[in-house]
Amino acid sequence: FSVPAPPNEPVKSYAPGTPERDALKKQLSSMARQTIEIPLIIDGKEIKTGDTADSVCPHDHKTVLAKYHKAGEKEIQMAIESSMKAHKAWSRMEWHDRIAVFLKAADLLSSTEWRYILNAATMLGQSKNVFQAEIDSAAELADFFRFNAYYAMKIYEDQPLHSPPGMWNRMEYRPLEGFIFAVAPFNFTSICGNLPTSPALMGNVALLKPASSSVYSAYWIMKLLEAAGLPEGVINFIPGSGSIVGKIVMDSPDFGGIHFTGSTPTFQSMWKTAANNLSKYKSYPRIVGETGGKDFIFAHASADLKALGTALIRGAFEYQGQKCSAASRAYIPKSIWNSLKEFMIDELKTVRMGDVQDFSNFMNAVIDKNAFDSITSYIEYAKNSNEAEILFGGNYDDSIGYFIEPTVVLTTNPKFKTMEEEIFGPVLTLYVYDDDKYEETLHLCDETSPYSLTGAIFAQDRKAIELADQILTNAAGNFYINDKPTGAVVGQQPFGGARASGTNDKAGSYLNLLRWVSARTIKENF
Ligand code: GLU
Repeated sequence: FSVPAPPNEPVKSYAPGTPERDALKKQLSSMARQTIEIPLIIDGKEIKTGDTADSVCPHDHKTVLAKYHKAGEKEIQMAIESSMKAHKAWSRMEWHDRIAVFLKAADLLSSTEWRYILNAATMLGQSKNVFQAEIDSAAELADFFRFNAYYAMKIYEDQPLHSPPGMWNRMEYRPLEGFIFAVAPFNFTSICGNLPTSPALMGNVALLKPASSSVYSAYWIMKLLEAAGLPEGVINFIPGSGSIVGKIVMDSPDFGGIHFTGSTPTFQSMWKTAANNLSKYKSYPRIVGETGGKDFIFAHASADLKALGTALIRGAFEYQGQKCSAASRAYIPKSIWNSLKEFMIDELKTVRMGDVQDFSNFMNAVIDKNAFDSITSYIEYAKNSNEAEILFGGNYDDSIGYFIEPTVVLTTNPKFKTMEEEIFGPVLTLYVYDDDKYEETLHLCDETSPYSLTGAIFAQDRKAIELADQILTNAAGNFYINDKPTGAVVGQQPFGGARASGTNDKAGSYLNLLRWVSARTIKENF
């Protein structure tokens, strides 16, 4: 037997008149009308602590989708015990039996109502438009399950060792001895699904702590995995305060590693905690994280103007700029600036923003009040600076939902605050350079931010592309030539970056899966 190399999950259009549109609309209105209760899930059992918080719609913050229970110390300890109990059978299970669970989860997403449940949860809970939800909680989530299964099969079958006569050398890919702490961000439901399941696929057990602003869709991922037959305790679900959960989990001698996506400061502080606790652990923990970005689009004078303008708008403003990969700084040569400006302003005037249930909205709300305050403080900073002007947008309103207009800042200082710092919202800063300073400005781009996640070069001239490729070789883990820096597809562009952007263990690739095994080499003489 073998797992066939999977095709990517087809992305549905939800165009008027399609059956998927009706199914999703029904799901949305039914889920938006209810307030459900979300328990912890430990050892397959629902646990209610009574310490609750609300999950709301960011675009309509009076609408409460769920009351979720938060884990306290007792429940976190229970979750650790349950994981280590589940570890015994799960870690010894044949890999093909484990893989079957995730292939089934992918199939449920492809062909049953689970697709609409996950998409509706992501749209309502994280304020994603229908296309952004579909490429995340349906297509990418299914792709993570299928491609990870495929890469795992390759890893288990690959035996690149030499055995001279009279001897048999082999290597076994055992799971780690401890549990994995999966800490998920709000911005991608697929990432929340991938963080605990890629270690689990390799025979590990995981504790899932979702971001407090996306507990709603995280809960539905857990229900999907349950429906696919995931045994009790393999992934325990413990929403709660990051600092409380993190402290207790990382204090445990059974702590085996972190699979993290989120902010750079949080990741760095977890790394320090792990370092301080090293002597408590059985093994050195595996620390895998994808953190921030300050992703760029760099244009050469030979760039195709329309492709460039479209990439700037889509790269910066899809999902309100809340992708780690979002374009948030751009370098434009003077010779094309006027035409590009005209094109962008005309396009931006047509952008619609509002509720997710109106499928014609390109933009929706930012995730919560904290994000709204932080993003708008950058906009105010730019408004008040004599080194910058607001070229488009700049208005915001949180009376109904956390809405911020797509905002374009033009600066004369290539090291302006909004060129350097991650904003994680719909703010794009542009710097216009003299055409004859192409090479110098490429160096500037490389040196301006501590991050190295994604970046793009737009040029038709091959020499200009080559130069950008060389100078920016360490500036982005995902480098795009004539395309926007967002929207990596599992199995096509493995995703992740270095420098302050993470450990670059490429989500959805064999590189990532190899971090979740501890190999044993066996030599047998005949
Ligand atoms: N993989 C996503 C993309 O390429 C970004 C993931 C993230 O925001 O962490 O757009």
